[in-house]
Parts: sequence; structure tokens; C-alpha cells
Amino acid sequence: MYRLFLIIFLLIVLYFLLRQMFRGFINSATRDGRGISVSSAERDEDQDQMIEDPVCHTFVPKRIAVIEEMEGRTYCFCSKECAVTFRSQHPA
Ligand SMILES: [Zn+2]
Repeated sequence: MYRLFLIIFLLIVLYFLLRQMFRGFINSATRDGRGISVSSAERDEDQDQMIEDPVCHTFVPKRIAVIEEMEGRTYCFCSKECAVTFRSQHPA
């Protein structure tokens, strides 16, 4: 009876090991850029784009930038403070 439990336990362990190996394989494939579609790669590139803050002229990656819409235009700032400064300098 104990043998059966041991076999089931081993099968479960094996299943998790295989799953982890498979996941590692997928991760390495996506890191090489083979596993991801072109559109998502382009979107990633867009998010990594460096944008100049119009207030302190610091370049910030789009993904961490503070994005504000003013007068129909989109502005990107390094921080909320710069956005507030810009807003006070450009009253609508
Ligand atoms: Zn700034």
C-alpha cells in the first residue's frame, strides 16, 4: 500500500519538475525573441522609448513616465512634480 503512495508522490514530483523545465524553455525562447510576436515586441519597444521631460529636460523611458494630456497634446514627465510645474506654467 505504501508503495502505491510513493509511486503517486514520485509522479507528482516528476510532473512539477517537467512543468518547471517546460516553463524555463519557454522563458529562454521568449528572451531570444523567437517566442514572441512582432506586435508585442513593437509595443515593448514603444514602452522603452526615451521621452524628454519638457520641464527639467530629463529623458525618461515611456513606461515609467508621468503622462499628462493638456490642450489635446500628450506630455511625458519624469515625475508628478514636473507635471504640476508644467501645468502651472501653461494655464489652460
Ligand atoms: Zn522632470
